[in-house]
Amino acid sequence: MTASALRLVWVYPDLLSTYGDQGNVLVMERRARQRGLHVERVDVRSDQPIPTSGDIYLIGGGEDRPQRLAAERLRRDGGLQRAADNGAIIFSVCAGYQILGHEFINDLGQREPGLGLLDVISTRGEGARCVGDVLADMDPGMGLPQLTGFENHQGITHLGPGVRPFARVTVGRGNGTGDGTEGAWRDTVFGTYMHGPVLARNPRIADHMLKLTLDVGALPPVDERWFEALRSERISAALNTAA
Ligand code: GLN
Repeated sequence: MTASALRLVWVYPDLLSTYGDQGNVLVMERRARQRGLHVERVDVRSDQPIPTSGDIYLIGGGEDRPQRLAAERLRRDGGLQRAADNGAIIFSVCAGYQILGHEFINDLGQREPGLGLLDVISTRGEGARCVGDVLADMDPGMGLPQLTGFENHQGITHLGPGVRPFARVTVGRGNGTGDGTEGAWRDTVFGTYMHGPVLARNPRIADHMLKLTLDVGALPPVDERWFEALRSERISAALNTAA
């Protein structure tokens, strides 16, 4: 981060932004501004180059075909890999998460290479689509409260030794492998199946990324009333569905 501004990059909103993922950018921006940071937000469409000097990159979910197009363009562009090598934070959701892995199954039923930024591989689930509200316990390495989100995916994601699960589900499917894991992360690269939008339901994750960027252990508190109301409403809905 420069002394003057936090550079926030929203990757391919024209291809990857489903189930309210745009909310992640709004929450990230707001939480930073509330802490007195000046935010420079860049929305990068899929026909534009990915800037490599961003601090935080957000990438959302998508349907199978836009997901393939996004993967092709991101591989050709190379900017996201360079940003990750520079230590930028990359936060990805669903299709975006699958793209950050080594490979996934595309809309043509073929193995499509990803960016290899997370040590995961996604296959296509043979059973019912994973759809519904999710509750999960965040990886203890991040010290964050219970994760609430919404999932809708056919892909199943298998974790390799180079990543840790982002969370462990108590309600819902997460990675869909049946081992209870949800998402994956390492260093400054994060992947989750959670929509919701996930940062509106879990603003502490946004704060976690701000702390990593600023290299600080704590941030000034902000008013959490609306976030807490949303969280408790969605947590009870998930528990009722599960009951
Ligand atoms: N197309 C992917 C799947 O079904 C991702 C879906 C999404 O991003 N919601 O697995």
